[in-house]
Amino acid sequence: MSNSSQRRGMLVVVSGPSGAGKTSICKALLARNDRAVWSVSATTRPPRGQETTGTSYEFLSRDEFEKRRSNGEFLEWAEYVGHLYGTPVAAAREALERGCDVIMEIDVQGGAQVAKKMPDSVRIFVLPPTMESLQARLEGRKTESAEQLRKRLAEADGEIGFARDSGSYKHFVVNDKLEITVDEIAGIIESERENPAE
Ligand code: 5GP
Repeated sequence: MSNSSQRRGMLVVVSGPSGAGKTSICKALLARNDRAVWSVSATTRPPRGQETTGTSYEFLSRDEFEKRRSNGEFLEWAEYVGHLYGTPVAAAREALERGCDVIMEIDVQGGAQVAKKMPDSVRIFVLPPTMESLQARLEGRKTESAEQLRKRLAEADGEIGFARDSGSYKHFVVNDKLEITVDEIAGIIESERENPAE
């Protein structure tokens, strides 16, 4: 018999190239699961569009980030296209202890660190249907400068290769139709909750 206090909280890592649809997927996962929480990362990247501190990211100076990193405050961290990103460990640990799922959208370098430190986490890599669709999505959201866009596209092949070769990701999901992708990922999380060793 199980009740809510016995529910095993899962650490869920969602990675994939910029423009693959990770943020929409994570938002949809959070909307359908009231025991899931979003892991608010720290970053040195400037806010873009409507982003505000504390909801999208905690926006830090490089100095502040480096201090917190030296204090061991991050579960993992990485540099992506010139900016630092890291997952505050305390909030994630506290949510897991309450039996909540923690949804983290992080890059492949971070995914590899989490795979080592927390091997029972669920690690999912989201692929675009085609590389052309990735470019179209990135261009369509109009949040990056032309230079940033070029750098993000240039990263994509390496990220996909690293995800395949590193063995850090067990699940690869092609994001063609958002609803179908979210169903698939929700199913993966439940199946790993029930069968942790699989
Ligand atoms: P963006 O600037 O588009 O928000 O994020 C750029 C990349 O950094 C994405 O691949 C995103 O998943 C990743 N990212 C966001 N937060 C973190 C984090 O805390 N740690 C790591 N390693 N990557 C992150």
